[in-house]
Amino acid sequence: MKTFKELDLIEPLQRAIAAENYRTPTPIQAQSIPPLLEGRDMLGCAQTGTGKTAAFSLPVLQHLHKTKTGGKRQIRAVILSPTRELAAQIQRSCETYGRHLSLKSTLVFGGVSEKPQIRDLKKGVDLVVACPGRFLDLMGRGFIDLSKVECFVLDEADRMLDMGFIHDIRKIMKQLPKRRQNLLFSATLPKSIVDLANQILHNPVRVEIAPEEPTVDKIDQRIMFVEKRDKKRLIVDLLGGPGVARSIVFTRTKHGANRLAKRLGKAGFPAIAIHGNKSQNTRQRALKGFKDGKYDVLVATDVASRGIDVDDITHVFQFDLPDDPESYVHRIGRTGRAGREGVAISFCDESEAKKLRKVERVIGQSIPTDEDHEYHHQAAVPSRGGRGGRNSRGGGGGKKRRRNNRGGGRKRRRGRR
Ligand code: AMP
Repeated sequence: MKTFKELDLIEPLQRAIAAENYRTPTPIQAQSIPPLLEGRDMLGCAQTGTGKTAAFSLPVLQHLHKTKTGGKRQIRAVILSPTRELAAQIQRSCETYGRHLSLKSTLVFGGVSEKPQIRDLKKGVDLVVACPGRFLDLMGRGFIDLSKVECFVLDEADRMLDMGFIHDIRKIMKQLPKRRQNLLFSATLPKSIVDLANQILHNPVRVEIAPEEPTVDKIDQRIMFVEKRDKKRLIVDLLGGPGVARSIVFTRTKHGANRLAKRLGKAGFPAIAIHGNKSQNTRQRALKGFKDGKYDVLVATDVASRGIDVDDITHVFQFDLPDDPESYVHRIGRTGRAGREGVAISFCDESEAKKLRKVERVIGQSIPTDEDHEYHHQAAVPSRGGRGGRNSRGGGGGKKRRRNNRGGGRKRRRGRR
């Protein structure tokens, strides 16, 4: 494994990395940094948590530093991200890694006042980290000049397409100079992303980092079949169970998130909802309250949860199964981070059988059923494949089930198949 010293990063970046206590580059950093420093385009297939932010921002910062000229700062690098949280996190990382370089960056996204953003842009910045909507808006009004852009990064491109940003992205790209370095990152590579990559990237290096198996392996996944009307009671029971310290509960809708957070609060669990309808400031405050321990439960929708970087989440509950099966993996990945163990419990009511099938197809395994709760609803159990029937063998997937960390219940869990 290469060291950071062998990666040809300039000394001020090395110093900033050392101050962060990064000892060795993560695999994506080791593979991406050298070709990116040579100016190559890149297609990176990796998820949050792999160290991908440093993988792309270190070379971008180095390039900006080396090619800096005197005079007014002009936007020379643009990083687009699908969500505000992720954009804010990326900019924070850029500031951290670039703290010994005299570069300026700003964040551009909606949900907050545009005034400070416009003020920064007018003063001049080297790097903009942005969500497409507000960026396009300010671009259209003449506050953003892209004619000097040398590096263009699209992060979480699959999520961008899911969220319908493709037209905005195309409009932005039309304003970019022809000669530039392009980086595209995506957790998944469906055909739509490969097509987009073919249009944007020139002779790219391709770096693929499989999600860290051992981490997902440390997550104790279970499915609980339950009637829709009992879900709230079940979640209250589970949150009161042993070992449940800090949890995220995923709901499908924003209203559902609000309602559930209120209900949990009333039941004695300090909870806060976070979703796309809330202003950026409210979301940041909520997240900070969760990180600082003011709230034990974060109730979130998928969009708002992307990029939440909290290490010690003991439990992830999926109050509703996701519409997009890929989200299941992102959701459960919020626990079991940094080598810790975690529990991911997903509810499935009668109307969600199809979603469960899709999830299991994506993850390539059958999630063990947990009947160990008061609200088990046999009618919600899909009949195919011997799933969770009374006669199925116990033990469900077997390994590492820790009774004292289960979040409620006393009886047995059943394996399926
Ligand atoms: P990311 O995938 O960019 O969201 O990064 C995930 C986490 O890993 C962040 O908290 C980073 O601070 C951390 N990180 C990134 N690179 C390294 C490294 N080489 N060594 C240790 N931690 C790292």
